[in-house]
Amino acid sequence: MKSEILLENYKKILSQLPENVELVAVSKNHSVEKIKILYEAGHRIFGENKVQELTAKQPLLPEDIQWHLIGHLQTNKVKYIAEFVDTVQSVDSEKILHEINRQAERHSRNVKVLLQVKIAEEDTKYGLEISECKELFLKWKQQQFPNVTITGLMGMATFTEDENQIKREFTVLKTLYDQLSAQHPLSTLSMGMSGDFELAIACGANSVRIGSSIFGDRE
Ligand SMILES: *Cc1c(COP(=O)(O)O)cnc(C)c1O
Repeated sequence: MKSEILLENYKKILSQLPENVELVAVSKNHSVEKIKILYEAGHRIFGENKVQELTAKQPLLPEDIQWHLIGHLQTNKVKYIAEFVDTVQSVDSEKILHEINRQAERHSRNVKVLLQVKIAEEDTKYGLEISECKELFLKWKQQQFPNVTITGLMGMATFTEDENQIKREFTVLKTLYDQLSAQHPLSTLSMGMSGDFELAIACGANSVRIGSSIFGDRE
């Protein structure tokens, strides 16, 4: 893909996002060169779903990129990203939150995280049940994980043409977000990808994770 097309795609997406909505550019399966083009256009927030790919790219790119891990994270891999990751969007168990906290402490850092909630009907998606999410949030509020900051929630809707179903699922997450926000201020409700970000924003998302609409099909 030519850099002009990449920049055009990027600007088009930006023009579709309200001012309060953050864009996480999902660069998985795309080259460091493409990331640099967006970086030079001023973009700073990039998302990757695999630790191995993230740790390969990170040293080749500017230090002020805010890297978000958006894919399922295994406990034994947290140590590879703890030093530099900005946000782990995919916290889907107490065990992984515990390990992120432990590794963040080793690096004298505080790592931002989102709790990933299972809102889709499909069984394939990772995520906490709503009750588990509330329990984990409570434990965090009781200071059981002092080196992480829960800044919000992340969720993925079912891959379907049925817009009403997608809206229902996003609304479940927005309702939970409002409930938890009433207990402790949260900033980030991450929902919506290339195919459904407009619906997600209509349902209250203030952060979207967009890959293919910017970078094209994955290489
Ligand atoms: C790949 C991915 C995205 C981006 O998907 P696109 O359809 O390419 O925009 C968003 N969120 C997660 C968790 C992903 O793995």
